[in-house]
Order: sequence, then structure tokens, then C-alpha cells
Amino acid sequence: MARTLLASDSATAWHNTDAEAALSTLTSSSTGLSSQEAESRLKVYGPNQLQQEQARSWYRRFFDQFNNILIFILIIAAVASAMLGHHLDAAAILGVVVIIALIGFIQEGKAEQAIQSIRNMLSPQATVLRNGKRTVVDAETIVPGDIVLVESGDRVPADLRLIEVKRFCTDEAALTGESIPVDKKTDTVSANADLAERSSIAYASTIVVQGTAKGLVVATGTQTEIGKISELVRGVEQLKTPLLRQLDRAGSMLALFILGAAALTAAVGSIFHNQPIDEMFMAAVGLAVAAIPEGLPAIVTISLALGVQRMAKRKAIIRRLPAVETLGSISTIFSDKTGTLTRNEMTATAIWLSDAHYAVDGIGFNPVGNIRQIDSDLKSQTHPITTDDHPALSHFLKAAALCNDAELAHNGESHHIVGDPTEGALIIAAAKAGLEIQALRQSHPRLDAIPFESEHKYMATVNEIVGEHKILVKGAPDRLLEMSNYTLSQEGRSPIDRRLWEARIEELSSQGLRVLAVAEMSAPDSQPLDHEHIQKELTFLGIIGLLDPPREEVINAVKECLYAGIRPVMITGDHASTALSIAKQLGFSQTKRVVTGREIESMTDAQLEEIIPEVDVFARASPEHKLRLVKAMQARGGVCAMTGDGVNDGPALKRADVGVAMGIQGTEAAKDASEMVLADDNFATIVNAIAEGRKVYDNIRKTITFILPTNGAQGLAIMLAVLAGTNLPITPLQALWVNMVVATTLGLALAFEESEHDLMRRQPRDPKAALLDMFLLWRVLFVSLLLLIGVFSIFSWLLAQGESIELARTAAVNMLVVGSAAYLINSRFLINSTLSFQGIFSSRMVWLAIAAIMLLQLAFTYVPFMQTIFTSEGLQLHHWLAILLASITIYGLVEVEKAVWRHVR
Ligand code: ATP
Repeated sequence: MARTLLASDSATAWHNTDAEAALSTLTSSSTGLSSQEAESRLKVYGPNQLQQEQARSWYRRFFDQFNNILIFILIIAAVASAMLGHHLDAAAILGVVVIIALIGFIQEGKAEQAIQSIRNMLSPQATVLRNGKRTVVDAETIVPGDIVLVESGDRVPADLRLIEVKRFCTDEAALTGESIPVDKKTDTVSANADLAERSSIAYASTIVVQGTAKGLVVATGTQTEIGKISELVRGVEQLKTPLLRQLDRAGSMLALFILGAAALTAAVGSIFHNQPIDEMFMAAVGLAVAAIPEGLPAIVTISLALGVQRMAKRKAIIRRLPAVETLGSISTIFSDKTGTLTRNEMTATAIWLSDAHYAVDGIGFNPVGNIRQIDSDLKSQTHPITTDDHPALSHFLKAAALCNDAELAHNGESHHIVGDPTEGALIIAAAKAGLEIQALRQSHPRLDAIPFESEHKYMATVNEIVGEHKILVKGAPDRLLEMSNYTLSQEGRSPIDRRLWEARIEELSSQGLRVLAVAEMSAPDSQPLDHEHIQKELTFLGIIGLLDPPREEVINAVKECLYAGIRPVMITGDHASTALSIAKQLGFSQTKRVVTGREIESMTDAQLEEIIPEVDVFARASPEHKLRLVKAMQARGGVCAMTGDGVNDGPALKRADVGVAMGIQGTEAAKDASEMVLADDNFATIVNAIAEGRKVYDNIRKTITFILPTNGAQGLAIMLAVLAGTNLPITPLQALWVNMVVATTLGLALAFEESEHDLMRRQPRDPKAALLDMFLLWRVLFVSLLLLIGVFSIFSWLLAQGESIELARTAAVNMLVVGSAAYLINSRFLINSTLSFQGIFSSRMVWLAIAAIMLLQLAFTYVPFMQTIFTSEGLQLHHWLAILLASITIYGLVEVEKAVWRHVR
């Protein structure tokens, strides 16, 4: 059957087919498919995915390695050497070029793999009806005939013929370029309507900006409209980040500089020292080869990728690579409260009606616990009550359970909530009072609804209650108080005493409880429910206080932020007193003043910029306030992370330096707008990611500071020798060897370096500060000179002793490499001292690298075929001792230099 569908369905004008006919064409019904049927259709239609852009093919990746000015210079050098008859040199240079390209190729491959696997962690999900039940499945497994439920913030997972809509609008910019949200309906549309006019279809990849809908899947994967126009919606992200680009630029400048120096040196050599031209050319080639840090770009790439991988292990998934760098300079984290700073495990603990106050026992989603009345004079609790004796309580809880989309599910003994935990807490309270939620909902069917949106801060439904149509509203208590004129007491309906209720709300909020109110009114005759209907005449039934404990780990994370010069700021839709109480429990620093969304609205941008550094809590705020807060903070020079979950958070997430979406609670729209997704919705994870970001940046700086002096020393050694008209202490071939072994062994070790103890005690990095700053340049120059002195000293010492030039060069090369190995230990900490057991021995990678390089140097010095290629000769023990002594001296001098820096800082 499914096969015949496949042939016919792409020709059907679904927008012009009415919902019933569409259901029967696809042999489905409004209760969806069975799991077996869905499975067998999946085999026929294939997975619901667009063709992903292929990762670069391996040969592309290999050839891309040669697309680099430094490598280019090497190739020219090889060709020129061959033409001058230096065949061994030419072959060796080419060999090295290939090895460097191979290393880059393998490391970039690993980096791409790491990033690809992280992308897979973000595969979207969708809610469908299977076997008549709401089920959440991977969006890839959706098939034509499935019934999909979507709500505000979702990405539509496939092309849907809409069957039911509630105030449903989608943003179709991805498909049609139209940036204004489009209203969707269920009525059929003329057969020749344009894509943009087909209001009965919701298209795959578009975002729901408002309302809810139920739709029949009519096309999946590449058969969808978006699949047809473009097979690549979200391409694989490039590996290049601003840091890598900065390095590329620096690399090109360096290459030009080195070429200039090489040409000049060759010219001076041949003019002033009458050296043969071709020898001078080879010296210039040697200089270029020696001074160019061939391995550096690959090491930086792998450091970034390692960082991304480590962050993913710690539940922070990076969607855009540059965020790894930006994270290190974050100075403010704007965070939502519910679920991020708190556990989002809501439990109702207090209920206040007009003339009775109750306490609810029991914590969590297990619907077991008593309700007790609190004696208002004595503030003491009575025995458990039953709702038979408390009809007002029963009425209140019924309304709270009906104006509610959460469901209580259980798995054996353990209970859990499907839906919003705030709503879950209300049905648990109702169940504790003995109400049967399913039966209640069946006997009071819902006729219409306005879903909850943070902007309005309430939800409303129309239900049939004993033959009458009632509007039930639940939401933020201050909002509902504004909308109510009456209250309900034992004497019946009476005008509301707002002061009294405000005091009660304040009392519950100041205990850190999230307070919700419930209200009702008669529905106007059979009109569709609209916000206008409920703005004035509501009858306020009561309030309920929900306990949402702070996350334990966040208390530490907040402390860590404050030490690290990062300010955590809470932005919440909750009441000011609730927010303040939670902020205090979490240890937010100043938190004396809470600013509300209303106050933000009444401020000009300048006023907001003025107060923003002093306020830690913004309460009763809506998503649009978030954007203004980020802008104000950025105007004060702050680098901001901003969390978000809803579709309306998009602009603020995009504007923030690092937008952070919630992985569990967050909508697809929020994830799309973000640089990073938290797999566990936890604030502490952001702080961990910042620490990781700082570490990555630190390690990259360390790697650069480590690698460049080796090149510097070699370049200078060759240059000085030519300028002085003496023998080269290191041949070009030997320089290549040094570059290669140092970059592949020692250089890589620092990418694995753990963070320094004071990493989260430092102020955030200034994002404008250059990577290669004066400090770094000084250090490179200083160590280059130290190595240079070491190399020349040992070279001239051996020559002076009458040793062969080959032996002197072998010693010089070993001096350079062993000196670099000693400097590797210095480089573990750029400024802090490494003069401790911890500093010298705690990194396994550093010692593995040193062991590896020693083996390579022994091979270089003693293995016959290496001696043939590199014209090296076996050293004696006392030569090694001299090299070791000189290396330890270099290590010591760098530590002295660090101490001076620490002192002058
Ligand atoms: P935070 O911003 O701290 O994460 P939040 O995102 O839950 O909190 P909103 O979702 O904007 O905040 O909720 C704002 C207010 O709306 C809440 O304080 C509560 O009073 C009310 N509210 C929250 N959820 C619902 C709901 N499902 N139905 C009705 N009202 C709700």
C-alpha cells in the first residue's frame, strides 16, 4: 500500500484537499498511525532528513593542506633546490611537506569528526500521535500519514496538512524569505495558490512563532518543499574561527617577513662575502624553512576541537566554533531562573483562598500527601482535611487542573510529569486532594484555549462545567489580580480586596515560592476565546505557592563566577520577591535592588545602561526585555552570555556574545539562535564551559609562545652565520627535522595541558586584546635569543676543540631540541612559576613528549641512515652533559624572567 502512496502523493495538491480527504488518502486518522505502520512506512519513504552537506572528502582535506602560503614557500624551495642540483635537500623538503600535510590532514580530520559527532547530539525531536498516544520521537523517524503536534518555538518537522489550529502562526523566512509570521488555518486553499498563500500547510523547517497545531504529515525529507528547493539547509560549519583567521593572517605576514629576511641575507652573503650564488640561495631557503612554524595551524585547530569535545563531555554543546574563544572573555551571564538556577521540580506547598489558608504535604511528583488547613490566628496546622468539607478548595483545584496541559504518568511505582512542571505541580496538588484528573477532564471537556506564553504570563481555557461554559484562567498572580474585579468567598461573589491579596502574594513570594493564581468567569456566547474577553471581569479564586529549590551545584558555580570576575544576573518571569529570595539563597553578590519588567519599560536606554552594573535580579521580565538588557550591558563594554528557551528569546540569544539555549526545555527556535546548547539546562554547565574556554585560549597562547622561539632561534642562527660569513650551525635539512619533531611531539603536549590553579581567579580576557601581544612577542624574542646563544656556544666550542663541522652541527641541533624540551616545561605556565614538583612533573603528556623527542634525537644522532640523510655524527657523553647543563640554564633563566614579570605586574 505504502508503495502506491509514494507514487501518487507528490502530485497531490494537499493545500487544496480537505483534512478528511487528506487523512483518507494517506490511510491515516486523526489519532495517528500505529507504531508498526510507522515503522513499515519508514522503510518505504526513508528517513525524514534533508541531505546533509557532505563533510569534506578526504582528498579535498589533504589537498587543502597545501593551500597555505608557508607550505607554498617550502614547495618552491624544494623545486629550486632540485634545479640547483641539491637533490637530497629537495627530496627531504618535499618529504617534510608531505609529512606536515599528513599531520594537518589527520588532525583536522579528528577535529571535524569531533564536531560532527557533537552535531549529532543535537538531532531534533517531534511530538506525534502513535497508537493514539502523544509520543516524542526523533524527527527523522516521522513518515507520511503521521499526526504531528507542534507548538510555539518548535521547528515544523515535515510538511503538514493542518487539521486543527489554535492562533497558529509560522515564520516561513527559511522557505519563502517572508519575514512576517504567516497565519495558518485549516480551510482548503485554491489549487493554484503560491507556496506563500497555502495557509492550510505548515512547511518543514519553518518555525512556529505562536499557538499550537495538529497536522497530518504529507511529505518528509527531500520530498518537502524545503527539501525540493535546497538540499542543504544547514551546512556543515567551517572549522575556521576568528582566532584561526588571525593566525592565518599573522602567518602570511610572518612568511613575507621571513622571505624578505632570507633574500636580504642571501644578497649580503653573496655581495659582501663573495659566496657562490647557489649556496646563498640554499642558505636563504634554509632560513625560510627554519623560521616558518609549519606545524602551528594544525596544533591550534586540534586544541580548539579538543576543547569542543571536552565541553560536550561536560554537557555544553558548541554549535558555532568561535564561541569556544568568546566564552573565555564572558563577563556577564544573564540567566533564566526556572530550571537553570533552580531544579524546575515544582511542588505545591501552600494554597490561599478568600477565607482559608492550606498547607500541602509531600515533595516531588508522587501524588501522595495531605492537605491541612492553617489556623490564621495561631498559624498552626490542623489535621488533614478532605475536600468534601472544603468545596471552595475543591473548586479551586478543579479549575487549576482543567486549565492545564500536563499529564501525570507512571512507570511502575515512580511517577513523572509529561508537560510543564509548573502545571504538573498543580495536578499533583489536585490528586492529593483526591481528584481524578482524567475523569475530571472528560466530564468537563475543553472547548477553546489560549496557550501560555511568557509575554502574557497566563493561560486560559473554556470548559463546559455543568452545562455552562466557563473561562478558566491561571497565571502570574499580579497579572490576574489586574484582570479580576471579584473574589469568591463563603458568602458568594464580592468585590476584590486587592491589597489583601497583594499581601498574601508577597508573603508566599518572599519565602521563595513561585506563586500562581487561578480565576474564572462565564464565557461570552460561543465566541472564540480572545485576550480581550478576560481583561476585566474575572473572579479571583485564590493563589497557590510552588516550591522550586535552587540547584545545589549552582551555589558553587555562582561563587566561582564571582571569583572569576563574571557577574551572574537573573532574569525571570517570576515575582520580584520570589526572585530575590532565590538570588539570596544562591549567593548572588549585591542583590539589594530588584528591577521589574515594567521599570525596564519606563527607562530610556541611557538610564538602563546607568543602572545595569548594579542590578543582579530582573523580575517579571519578558523575552523582549532581555534584548534591551544585553544591549545595555554591551554598551557598557560587557561581554554577555544569555540563556533562553522560547521562540521570543531568539533576538536576545542572537545579540548576546554567546547565546545559550536549553537542551531539555528549549525550543528548536532558541537552539537555532544560539552558539551553545546546555544538555542539562544547568547554570553550572555554563560556568564549566567558560572555564574550558579560558583553558583552550590559554593553551593556544602557550603553544604559540612555545613553538615560535625554536623557529626564531634557527632563523637567527642561519641569518647571523651568513651575515658574518661563517659556517651555518644548522643546515636547512636539519632545520626542517627540528621543526617537524618539535611541532609533532613537544608542541602538541600543551594542547592537553590542564588549567592553571588561578584560571578562574583571573579577570575575563579583554576580547579586543591581540593574541600576539607585547608580552608574547617579548617572550618569543627572549627565548629565541637564549636558544641562539646555546646553539652558537656549543657549535663554536666543538669547532674550537677541533671537532668536525658535522659533529658540531649535530650538537647544535641537539642543543636546540633539548633546550626546547626544557622550555616546554617553562611554557606549562606562562607567568606562574613551574619550580615545584607539581610544575615540573604533573603533566604526563609533557613527559611523554619529551621521552618521544629524546628517542627521535638519539635516532637522528646515532642511526646510520639518519646520519647519511642529515650528515649527523655520534656525540659523546660529555657533549650530552654540556647540552643538558645549557638546557637547564635556559629553563632557569626563563623562570627568573617570569619572576621579574610577576614582580612588575
Ligand atoms: P524564568 O524566566 O525564571 O525561567 P519562567 O521562564 O518560568 O521563569 P515565565 O515562563 O516567563 O518564567 O513565566 C512567567 C510567569 O508566568 C511565572 O512566574 C508564572 O507566574 C506564570 N506561569 C508560568 N508557567 C505558567 C503556565 N504554564 N500557566 C500559567 N502561568 C504560568
